[in-house]
This record gives sequence, C-alpha cells and structure tokens, in this order.
Amino acid sequence: MEVSSKLPDVGTTIFTVMSQLATDTGAINLSQGFPSFDPPAALTDRIAWHLRHGGNQYAPMSGIVQLREAIAEKTARLQGRAVHSDDEVTVCTGATEGLFSAIQALVRPGDEVIVFDPAYDSYEPAVTLAGGITQHVPLTIADNDSDFCIDWQRFEDAINARTRLVILNFPHNPTGAILSAADLDRLADVVRDTPAYLLSDEVYEHIVFDGKRHLSLAAHDELWSRSIVICSFGKTFHATGWKIGYCLAPAKLTREFRKVHQFTTFAVSTPMQHGLADYLQSEPAFYETLSAFYQQKRDLFCSLLADTRLSFEPSRSTFFQIVNYATVSDERDVDLAIQWTREIGVASIPISVFCKRPFTGTRLRFCFAKDDATLTEAVGRLAGL
Ligand code: PMP
Ligand code: GLN
Repeated sequence: MEVSSKLPDVGTTIFTVMSQLATDTGAINLSQGFPSFDPPAALTDRIAWHLRHGGNQYAPMSGIVQLREAIAEKTARLQGRAVHSDDEVTVCTGATEGLFSAIQALVRPGDEVIVFDPAYDSYEPAVTLAGGITQHVPLTIADNDSDFCIDWQRFEDAINARTRLVILNFPHNPTGAILSAADLDRLADVVRDTPAYLLSDEVYEHIVFDGKRHLSLAAHDELWSRSIVICSFGKTFHATGWKIGYCLAPAKLTREFRKVHQFTTFAVSTPMQHGLADYLQSEPAFYETLSAFYQQKRDLFCSLLADTRLSFEPSRSTFFQIVNYATVSDERDVDLAIQWTREIGVASIPISVFCKRPFTGTRLRFCFAKDDATLTEAVGRLAGL
C-alpha cells in the first residue's frame, strides 16, 4: 500500500546528502556545518564526572535548575534581559527540537508563517506538519552583491492578519547577515499592529565579527513580549553532536512551548546538563572568546580565497562563508556543488536549496570551522579552477 506522505515535497536534507557524498568520494567536507575541533576539556571532564556520579536519571522536564539559572545569568549579562529561570527558560534537545516544539505550539491549521529566504531547512516542514502555510520573503542582496538584508517593503507586503508567526535567523545561516538596533526597531514597527509572534533562531549568537555584537530579540523590550528565542550549545562549545540547546520566552509563551516540548522529548540528557551548568559557572567568559577564535578562521579562509578566481565579501558572522563562482562557471549551484565534491574534492552547500524561488544566483556556502591545514588544502584545490 502506498504511504500517503504528510511531507510529499520533502527529501533528505542537503546536509546529509553532501556529507554522505564527501564521505563516499573522500572529499574535504566544508558542507555540513560542524567544527573539526573538540569542546573545552574542562567541560567534557565535568560531563564525565557526572556520568560517573549518579547524574543518569531523568532531568526535570524544563531542565535542571542549575543550568536554567546559568542561562538566565548569561542572558542578563550579555543581552540585558532578566529572564526568570523557572518559567522563561527551557532546556531542549538542540535548537532543532526547540524550533519544532515552538512551531507546533503556536501554529494552527491555516495560519501563515513568514520565513526569510535563504531559510534554514527545518522551518517549513515543521510549519507544514502543524497545518500552517509558509510564506517565503526573500532577503535582498545589497549593491555590493554580497550582503543580504531584510527587504522591509516585501516583509510589510507579506505580513497580514493571518500571519501567526515570523521566523528570523540572525546571525544568519547561510549568509552571515546580522541585525542592527535600527533593524530591531523597524521590525517592531512592522509587527506592532499585527497578531504575529516571533520565533528567533539565534544559534550563532556568539559568533559575530569585526567588533559587532549580536542583538537578541530578547534584548528588545517590545519584541521580547511576543518572542520565542532558540539557542544551541552545539555551536558554542564545538559540540554539534550533543544536541542540547535552550528556549527563552516570556512565561505565557513558555507555558505553551512546554506543552509540546514535554511530549516531543520530555527531558534532555542529564549528565550533559550538569556538566554544562558547572562549566558555565566556572568559565562565564568562554562566550567572549568565540568571535575572535572564528574571526581568525574567517580571515585565514578569506586570505586564501583571495588567490582564487572566486568572489566574496568576508562573512559578518557564523562559521560560514558565501562564495560567488560566476567568474568560473555558470552551472546551477546544486550541480556544481556535486561536481566540485567529486572532481575537485571539496564539498560545499548550494544556496538555492534554502530558497523557494532561486534569486541568489551562483553561490555556494563553505564551512570554515576547520583546522588551518584543512582550510589551506581545500582552498588550494579551488585555486586550480
Ligand atoms: N538553526 C540553524 C540556523 C542552524 O544552522 C542549525 C544547525 N546547525 C540549527 C538550527 C540546529 O541546531 P542544533 O544542532 O542545536 O539542533
Ligand atoms: N546547521 C548545520 C548546517 O547548516 C547542519 C545541521 C544538520 O546537519 N541538520 O550546516
């Protein structure tokens, strides 16, 4: 019997496809975003300690108190928002679960949800499963042909009385775009007289370059009252395989979030939570080291790319660099990503898969969260083009 699919248009994610191809062909994998370095040893030591000392049974559904308090302390210190650890912070199974639970909690059948293209690939399927309708608003490409920004006019044209949720992702994967204080005020102007909630995917909050700072929606008084903010420890601690993150939201939204979270996952790995709580308490400054660490990687990668025929503007955030290959090929980005993986031995991510309608042209995303030798070898291969 044929299975009548709830997600007929969804295939296997591009991250799995490209990583598998890189493995099969032995290519350098700069596609799926994961670091080639380990989490801090002091953190893994604390997790190991808790594994051996009884931290192995269910944690509370919302997360252990110590970790929620450490997250609240950090949010107050870095974003100036005093969140209540009891009813405004929830530990979740990576950002993916947090985003999924938030969407299921808020979106009702027939509701519209706005995403900005290129949009991370987990948003739309979650909206579809909730019975919602995804509206894609493309970011606009600035005159330098590199910076991606919100097209406020298109956003204003798209939002309406049926818009239940607007999903934002700044620092932005894949383009590295960030929001300014003026952008947040503009966002507040646009949503003020609408019923829309905001879901802000801020997993790259600690990786912002050139002296800029990440501005969370949690930092903005007016936006915070209608926002759910999702973060991930995976990016921050070089541990994408741990799948642990958290959700910040005002109490009334946290209540709805937890109604879904408790049945999506119930509770998150206990020794991980204890280890992270210990580490956040003993090393509160770790966050502040991350941007400088990744800026060095970005600068190395870009200085190497300067010797190729590819064009780019250095990324403003995240551990991704967008490259425009128009000078070397007019192939479709999906085809070229596969071709370069097979023939040159460097895997990347095509941008068009994150867009409802192609508008970004000839662009690929490379992950520079790798050791220097890997980056040097990879760009050396691209230099031959
Ligand atoms: N959102 C964005 C924009 C991401 O890049 C990622 C992934 N890495 C996630 C969400 C998922 O994060 P996690 O691995 O914590 O589920
Ligand atoms: N977020 C990671 C990326 O953008 C991949 C996560 C995943 O593989 N699902 O590359």
